[in-house]
Amino acid sequence: QVRVRFAPSPTGNLHVGGARTALFNYLFARSKGGKFVLRIEDTDLERSTKESEEAVLRDLSWLGLDWDEGPGVGGDYGPYRQSERNSLYKQHAEKLVESGHVYRCFCSNEELEQMKEIAKLKQLPPVYTGKWANAMDDEVQEELGKGTPYTYRFRVPKEGRLTINDLIRGEVSWNYDTLGDFVIMRSNGQPVYNFCVTVDDATMAISHVIRAEEHLPNTLRQALIYKALGFSMPHFAHVSLILAPDRSKLSKRHGATSVGQYREMGYLPEAMVNYLALLGWGDGTENEFFTLEQLVEKFSIGRVNKSGAVFDSTKLRWMNGQHLRALPSDKLSKLVGERWKSSGILVESEGPFIEEAVLLLKDGIELVTDSDKVLSNLLSYPLHATLSRDWRYCQLPEGKVMIQNKLCEVSSGLLAAYDSGELLNALEEGHSGWQKWVKNFGKTMKLKGKSLFMPLRVLLTGKLHGPDMGSSIILLHQAGTGDMVSSQAE
Ligand code: GLU
Repeated sequence: QVRVRFAPSPTGNLHVGGARTALFNYLFARSKGGKFVLRIEDTDLERSTKESEEAVLRDLSWLGLDWDEGPGVGGDYGPYRQSERNSLYKQHAEKLVESGHVYRCFCSNEELEQMKEIAKLKQLPPVYTGKWANAMDDEVQEELGKGTPYTYRFRVPKEGRLTINDLIRGEVSWNYDTLGDFVIMRSNGQPVYNFCVTVDDATMAISHVIRAEEHLPNTLRQALIYKALGFSMPHFAHVSLILAPDRSKLSKRHGATSVGQYREMGYLPEAMVNYLALLGWGDGTENEFFTLEQLVEKFSIGRVNKSGAVFDSTKLRWMNGQHLRALPSDKLSKLVGERWKSSGILVESEGPFIEEAVLLLKDGIELVTDSDKVLSNLLSYPLHATLSRDWRYCQLPEGKVMIQNKLCEVSSGLLAAYDSGELLNALEEGHSGWQKWVKNFGKTMKLKGKSLFMPLRVLLTGKLHGPDMGSSIILLHQAGTGDMVSSQAE
């Protein structure tokens, strides 16, 4: 059975890179009918915090990446926090001592420093030279008797090499002699990170380890531990880094890098998930729009690119617009309506006015926060004030000769239609009323097409371009006569 895990260290917010790793694990598990496990790697007690763990869980849930086993849901392979698994690490360390894969090392820090210095002088790699590797039993007993502190060191074979077939990077190998005998348990009894990860992955029956490229070098140590404990190795897939546009490692100085920041800025989880998937993956077609369900259907680890992917916040923003417009219209109206109310432009967050306005304006919105500007822009033209006054907006945007010629002509016709109440009556009737009126008006003025609509648009909305004119004007009329628009916004 396919079992994968996402193993965040709760030392900060969920970074977009971590979220992408989680997503690839989730997609792999779901596409194979396997399990997605969440494990909290909180062995670094000084840097791990409960708040950070909560934030990571919240962000994963927000993205819709629900886990089958882990904190909050339990499972057969728990506990799912490393800080609660100490006895398991101890037990496995003892096993390795018994089998001779691990030995006690009584070297003091000074001795270790000296060894490093000597290696440096001899231009040898700074690896442990194995002073205690072949110690006699009575030497060990003597130190134990004296109470000398000791670490547990793993006996690394002096010859040979390890080759793995990484599902993303292909063949990767290391010579064992690049590694000295390494510590798996410190003298204070604290197990070392690589040891915990291996014991966890093995005892949680993880079949595929999909993680960030930066952990690739750890694989050698981990593989040795697997073998020594008699577990079979999982498959590995190391995902490349996420880069900033200048191809350096993405960091805070490039702007928002955490999932939580994007959520607070009003991004949709659907867009975030879609964009993260495209960082290093594609289905091989031009298509870039995917829902989470579609991603599950299309995902394959073999299509994940081994070169770094550039994080482009402009594209993420664009993608958010795509997902916003793909929302069912009631959901979109609710979202935007709430925004308009909370930002004080409108007094209500729902109603036909909002539905109409959202329908009209949605093409200009990428992010829900944009919707303020788009609505204010529409409402900024005081239709009723202008209609009831002398036509002051008669001189208009430079260079549009065609319009200027027609402008005064159309404006006097319009004024007449306003004074007679004919235009306002038509607007009261909504779309059909407007359409009937505009058709008649064109006939009377002997104008049609652009020469009718452009001057009309300019006179009625104050702008040369914009969304559908009829809807815009009806909305403007409603805004002027109704009580939807808050006085603060006017
Ligand atoms: N805890 C590690 C991290 O947050 C992940 C280790 C792993 O996936 O093997 O980077």
